[in-house]
Amino acid sequence: MKLDVNVLRYLSKEDFRVLTAVEMGQKNHEIVPMPLIDSISGLKHGGAFRCLKTLLQHKLVHHEGQKYDGYRLTYMGYDFLAIKALVARGHIAGVGRQIGVGKESDIFEVTNDEGEVFALKLHRLGRTSFRDVKSKRDYLGTRSNYSWLYLSRLAALKEFAFMKALGDHGFPVPVAIDNNRHAVLMELVDGQPLVQVRELAHPAAVYSAAMDLIARLAARGLIHCDFNEFNLLIDEEETLTLIDFPQMVSVSHPNAEELFDRDVECIIRFFNKKIGYMPQLDESLPSIRPSFQAAVAEAAAAGASGLDVELAASGFNKNHAKDLQAFLDGSEVQDDADDQAGSDSEEGCEDEDEDDSEPSSSDADAASDSGSEQLLDEAGDLPDAQAAA
Ligand code: ADP
Ligand code: MG
Repeated sequence: MKLDVNVLRYLSKEDFRVLTAVEMGQKNHEIVPMPLIDSISGLKHGGAFRCLKTLLQHKLVHHEGQKYDGYRLTYMGYDFLAIKALVARGHIAGVGRQIGVGKESDIFEVTNDEGEVFALKLHRLGRTSFRDVKSKRDYLGTRSNYSWLYLSRLAALKEFAFMKALGDHGFPVPVAIDNNRHAVLMELVDGQPLVQVRELAHPAAVYSAAMDLIARLAARGLIHCDFNEFNLLIDEEETLTLIDFPQMVSVSHPNAEELFDRDVECIIRFFNKKIGYMPQLDESLPSIRPSFQAAVAEAAAAGASGLDVELAASGFNKNHAKDLQAFLDGSEVQDDADDQAGSDSEEGCEDEDEDDSEPSSSDADAASDSGSEQLLDEAGDLPDAQAAA
């Protein structure tokens, strides 16, 4: 999806007020009826209607005219609200080129007033394909009121909390700067995804660094669960930076050991197949693969409370974790069914090949946030709106 931030400049204060009103209305309505938007925005003389026309023109809201008459945010509308908030906080001044398209995110280069460049990740859970969305909706069953905007916001909240905690504990991850709605603002890493590399000056050292990272994470109570060549960035000095955290789990997860081993196998397979380095045959390596049991035993011996425990008490709480996990588990079930394959570890990595291709965004606009509690902190300039809602 294109993010035309020029539009940002054409939008008036009133336009944003109405956009925020739609977001607030979606707290309780999948489709927000016009009278509610009118009352939340508090604009006089059909002001809200005029603004809605502008918002529609720029595809920031969608008009639903069939079953119910009303409006809902598009992903782009949600993007604009998040970006506006980050601009208001003085963290970004401009949005530049898109640097990454993940399965469930878009990543842009952004700048601040000093001209420093950062990475902005906008989460888009459930956009992969319409079929996928439907199956995930089915999977969530009675909880289908957890919309994709809500889940994207949870993914961002989790990613930010984990990135911050990992960075604070010395893990090589981008510096976490800010989070708003489904957006995570972070350091722009100077490096390329390992998947783009075919030759390494020091394959054994890079391999060991990756394995060490997996083991150290487990020793601090965490498993990445998507630890592969797509989520490791490598710089000129062949130093690794780990990214992409929404799917991380605690070592107390029932399948922890399996997930840990899957991460390890993904890296081994990449080095075997793409780099042509065989750790199995390298006698100079102190160990070929880390052991989950050893890492967990080390954590126990150190007696330190794990990051998993620390994070459970963060802004990303237990209920959030449950909601997000239900969705992620559902998508795994679906991925496996799609590929007619079981839980073969090969799966996890092969799936990732999709990461490079442009995902379909046909359903991106299908998102709404009914039944979810919204982050309303940015609606601060709407004091009367809160009361109206
Ligand atoms: P997804 O969850 O959609 O896979 P990722 O967080 O893995 O998203 O990011 C997708 C791509 O965007 C990465 O492979 C990388 O190329 C780029 N990218 C993400 N974060 C950064 C960053 N902080 N610095 C530089 N590039 C990044
Ligand atoms: Mg990724």
